[in-house]
Amino acid sequence: MANTNTNNNSNNSNKNKTNNRRTAAGRNKKSSRASAPKKSPKSKAVQATFKVIPLGGLKEIGKNCTLIECNNEILIIDCGMAFPEYEMFGIDIVIPDFTYLIENSHKVKGLIITHGHEDHIGGVPYLLKEISVPVYASPLAMGMISHKLEEHGLSTERHIIKAGDKVRIGDFKVEAVQTNHSIADSLAYSVKFPGGHIFHTGDFKVDYSPLDGKVIDLSRIAQLGDEGVDVLLCDSTNAFRQGYTPSEAVVRKSIDEIFNNIDRRIIIATFASNVHRIKYFIEASMKHGRKIAVSGRSMENVMALSKELGYMDDIPESVFVDISKIKNLPDKNLTIITTGSQGEPMSALTRMAYDNHKQVKLKKNDVVVFSSSPIPGNEKVISQVVNQLYEKRVEVVLASAMDVHVSGHASSEELKLIHTLIRPKFFMPAHGEYRHLIEHAKLSNRLGQPKTRIFVMSNGDALEVNGKKASIIESYTSGEDIMVDGYGVGDVGSSVLKERKTLSQSGLITVSVVIDQVSGGLMAEPKLNTKGFVYVQENQNLLKQAVSVVYNSIGKCSDEHTLDEASLTRTIKSDMKKFIYAETKRNPVIIPVIMYV
Ligand SMILES: [Zn+2]
Ligand SMILES: [Zn+2]
Repeated sequence: MANTNTNNNSNNSNKNKTNNRRTAAGRNKKSSRASAPKKSPKSKAVQATFKVIPLGGLKEIGKNCTLIECNNEILIIDCGMAFPEYEMFGIDIVIPDFTYLIENSHKVKGLIITHGHEDHIGGVPYLLKEISVPVYASPLAMGMISHKLEEHGLSTERHIIKAGDKVRIGDFKVEAVQTNHSIADSLAYSVKFPGGHIFHTGDFKVDYSPLDGKVIDLSRIAQLGDEGVDVLLCDSTNAFRQGYTPSEAVVRKSIDEIFNNIDRRIIIATFASNVHRIKYFIEASMKHGRKIAVSGRSMENVMALSKELGYMDDIPESVFVDISKIKNLPDKNLTIITTGSQGEPMSALTRMAYDNHKQVKLKKNDVVVFSSSPIPGNEKVISQVVNQLYEKRVEVVLASAMDVHVSGHASSEELKLIHTLIRPKFFMPAHGEYRHLIEHAKLSNRLGQPKTRIFVMSNGDALEVNGKKASIIESYTSGEDIMVDGYGVGDVGSSVLKERKTLSQSGLITVSVVIDQVSGGLMAEPKLNTKGFVYVQENQNLLKQAVSVVYNSIGKCSDEHTLDEASLTRTIKSDMKKFIYAETKRNPVIIPVIMYV
């Protein structure tokens, strides 16, 4: 147990996310178990060791996935994806490394889902391709998961779980608790098992006037706290925000104001999954005699799902109008609800902004409402779309100017409330970048939690809990990013990415050489082809010189009797690299193609 460390604080936690590594060093479960303290027979039953293993979601916002392991049984909480970072060229999505779950698939009893956001469910099909496991989720999240599974041609045992439900999964007694968040049916989980009780908040906020009227179940959370919670895992996203996150009711007020004062066409961009907010847009539209058209694939999908699940039960079908039939409606009688609030290039709103939308042509005085805030990293593309809208003389309403959006995550005062109700033995900040986790750890410490009982961890670490003791086993398993590119999962590694980066920055030069197999002489002049390197027309001289470099390389190899493919390739590559760098200070990828005829 060389890596075990009972101190929490930043010392053992300042590993960078990029340091997440695959290592066997921590895989010493047996020896760790041997250190269980001797207790009286009575207490022995409840002194079982258990582990909490985050595979994703720490030191990042994305790919949340946490395991609870006890008595040779594993329960998974959430299985999300992350969006690729800027430097991940061509990567579609990033998922957790499931190696540990694949190696221990016989122990895995179930996967419970807190809510239907992609950072909690996006990895599900990729996990189910590897192992078979029953999935438990609330109706909306399950609807979204089912849709994904269909797309991937997968199926699995599925169970709907709702707030207040208690289910037994293996030895785990799971209870779903009502919370509030920016998507319907969000749940926190209490998980009890021999020797332990874990409370996982999921993504949450405390909203006393949510649009669906279902307030977070604080009284049940308090009771669970009274029963004793060993480890609290809690959303850290807004740990830096002072005070309270405003209620969704605030959005309702702003929307009313907009609808009361505007008699032009209103186009609202928001997150498709915020079903209750979308329902409110529809209700407000109905009140003002407007029909609703929906645009964008994910918006259409979620809308169909919400109707199917009964979220839109009191909305008559007659208020909806097909996006292809909006032409004859007066502007004051139309609301368009669309995807694209994040400036996504192919989204409906972006296509409208750039005149590429088949059915919607924007016109002067249209009102576009962004009922969203930029996800970090998207600011630039969003502002490009906004500028484009301004060019069209469209009126743009942003959340920064009017309360047309509120966060779905708890601010510091709400976090304090949860800590005070749960009073956990140990605390693990979850769901946040490193700075969020640290800030949340400080908040917990200020509330009286000793530093030695707060564990800021990295993906792939394990928190081992044994009665009153807990410690981190660093790098217990892999917490690496697994990159998905098209159909390939994990086949693009760091060397491929490096190559893509070089290609994107400096381009490519191929050098074709045809050699007479018998004489060893050149059959034709060497040919250079470039892509993304320099503008060929203006650089004829440079390319001519480059050809003479190739002649020299071949001459050199010929003199040394090393005209074999490997030596020739190596020499051309190295000489060409030196020449190009000296002339241009660039490092394109150089690919010699040698043919013997
Ligand atoms: Zn969420
Ligand atoms: Zn989340």
